[in-house]
Amino acid sequence: MVRGGAESLGSGYVLLDEIGGGAMGTVWRARQRDTGELVAVKLLRDGLAGDSDLVLRFVQERNVMRALRHPHIVAVRDFVIEGDRLALIMDLVEGGDLRGLLRQRGTLPPAEAARLMAQVADALAVAHAVGVVHRDVKPGNVLIDAATGQVRLTDFGVARIVHGPGLTQTSAVIGTPAYLAPEVADGAAPSAAVDVYALGLILYELLAGRPPFVGDHPMALLRQHATAAPRRLPGMPGPLWALVQACVLKDPAGRPSALAVAAALKEAGPSLTGLPALPPVPRDEAVSTTSEPLPAAPAPPPGRTPPVPGENTVTSEGRGRPRQRLVIAASAAAALVLAGAAVAVAAPWRAPKASAAPSTSPTGEAANPSVVTPSPEVPTPSPKNLKKRREPEDEPKQETVSAPTTPPPSTKPPTRRVRTPKPAQTSPEVEPEEQPPSQPPAPVWKCRSWLAVGSGAEMSPCMAVVGDTIHLKGQIRGSARSDVHVQLYDTDADANLSQPFICVGLTPPDGGVAACGPFTLRAPRTGAKVDVRQRWRAAGTTTWGGGAESPWARW
Ligand code: ADP
Ligand code: MG
Repeated sequence: MVRGGAESLGSGYVLLDEIGGGAMGTVWRARQRDTGELVAVKLLRDGLAGDSDLVLRFVQERNVMRALRHPHIVAVRDFVIEGDRLALIMDLVEGGDLRGLLRQRGTLPPAEAARLMAQVADALAVAHAVGVVHRDVKPGNVLIDAATGQVRLTDFGVARIVHGPGLTQTSAVIGTPAYLAPEVADGAAPSAAVDVYALGLILYELLAGRPPFVGDHPMALLRQHATAAPRRLPGMPGPLWALVQACVLKDPAGRPSALAVAAALKEAGPSLTGLPALPPVPRDEAVSTTSEPLPAAPAPPPGRTPPVPGENTVTSEGRGRPRQRLVIAASAAAALVLAGAAVAVAAPWRAPKASAAPSTSPTGEAANPSVVTPSPEVPTPSPKNLKKRREPEDEPKQETVSAPTTPPPSTKPPTRRVRTPKPAQTSPEVEPEEQPPSQPPAPVWKCRSWLAVGSGAEMSPCMAVVGDTIHLKGQIRGSARSDVHVQLYDTDADANLSQPFICVGLTPPDGGVAACGPFTLRAPRTGAKVDVRQRWRAAGTTTWGGGAESPWARW
């Protein structure tokens, strides 16, 4: 909580001075108490913490955001939920942003514009490869590192957190209509192509001094995105103009991938050397200076497949197969996030439901925790939240958590169905999974030998890898009512790979075993060495006891 005087955030950070403010909150220079290191703290707007959906999304996104590491991405190091405050702790990038740079300089020489935008495109390519769409690419989110002269893209995931159902405001995100792809205004779920669209517009803006579409009224801007095209200015170099045109195609499926944009920008670099910056177009000059109406034609259907990393050309030829690969990877990564979203709470355990729907879980856990991270301790969201928010609005609809069943006494063993994520925007020919969906191979469980955890209780976490699917579960025996916490872990990187699955009030039968799970996760193959971490506590207590890990496997 920020208080008067020496302002601090949680126990870990001291806020020094405010360095910026946006629609989502204020940004502070801050010091990390234990290391003395300077960081940036983004305090989300007051009042947001009162929105339980938002808090849940915040927690769900943290692993994804913390996993995004790249020289041109501003790393999110930590998330803090303290009282009614939500804060992101990020790398501090001192040197302003592209918006400020344009204000100072008007326009950039083509070679410099290409160099900076290639860095932004590289950052986006990395994020897109793991299924993360930025959704709010704009000059204010491109920070300049004065020390290196390079740029770094910030606010990854923030739009996804803030722009979700349940919030009374959405202006924070829709407030940048100058860069909003037309399919988003049409209601399509944002795909990687929306970021590429923004890339194209910013490239144009760096050359021209303003984006091609301007206007005071958001609706007028949205109309231009739908019906107009950027106009080439005298002196705009051919390769960059071609790239702008490709990026801002109305049909998202026709746009190049971020990776292809980065490659094309780098390739164009040498030919741009020495070209002068164009004279900036004043912001209040007629829209027609920088845009022209498209001939009336039926708008293409919005929201097709996202473009493909791995392409090295900005044409749209020969993209069928690689495109499929990306769709699968992206949707699988989304599945991983989603699995985290469904922090499973199932209680009472003796009457498990046929799905992990957390419909009967009086957890009594704090819905309003204090500092959440960096410990793996994540609050169990209230059942109300879980019911409302099992599927982030922009993710494919899918079930990623398998039925947490103990076999019913007198029936044949349950067939565990691994549901294949269905990419919401995939063209029909894409087959996301080689396995026939009806007969996946049964998981072969590898479990840790029983480990005593006190009070007579023992636990044994288990994992089974089937193709690119991981099943995990925690087991408990010899205890009275217990809560169990299982999570997939990256053994080498020493980091969580999934959100926790928490089962509350497990009561093993006399001499028997109770299981938390199985849960199912899918993700692209990474070759990572993974294991399952299980923790335990007596039901009704608040502190998790020591952990046990399953045998590891390569994923
Ligand atoms: P916006 O809505 O413009 O993106 P933000 O709240 O993200 O607003 O940021 C406001 C300003 O704070 C940015 O324009 C930038 O200048 C500054 N800022 C944001 N993040 C950082 C950071 N990690 N390091 C340094 N400055 C930052
Ligand atoms: Mg920002």
